[in-house]
Amino acid sequence: MEQDCVFCKIATGVFDTQFVYQDEKLVAFRDMNPQAPVHILIIPRRHIPQIRQLKGNDDKLVGRMILVAIKLAEQEQISESGYRLVFNCGENGGQEVDHIHLHLFGGRKMTWPPG
Ligand code: AMP
Ligand code: ZN
Repeated sequence: MEQDCVFCKIATGVFDTQFVYQDEKLVAFRDMNPQAPVHILIIPRRHIPQIRQLKGNDDKLVGRMILVAIKLAEQEQISESGYRLVFNCGENGGQEVDHIHLHLFGGRKMTWPPG
């Protein structure tokens, strides 16, 4: 746990956040500033600042994040209408919180290219 990291605090229950999913490796919760009717963040409990810092043996962890997102999309009933999964990385990628997170957006038509 990184002392000043808001997502580490969420993962360890400091803010009493309601999780839409949790297991020993991951937690998922609703974004506090949703950009779509469904906007969920899937994060590892482990503090990893950016996806560029992932290592070869993190393949299972990242795979699990994606599989959880797919499951949550079904739970939220956006699976058939479609959704978007996003990892932002670094300044140009628009990353604001330095603890990796996978965005699940759905419930409206997404635009392309992204802003
Ligand atoms: P990013 O720009 O990819 O780093 O996304 C960070 C996301 O985290 C933004 O969509 C924020 O709205 C969201 N966020 C930041 N703090 C919290 C929090 N305490 N609870 C829920 N979502 C948060
Ligand atoms: Zn963290």
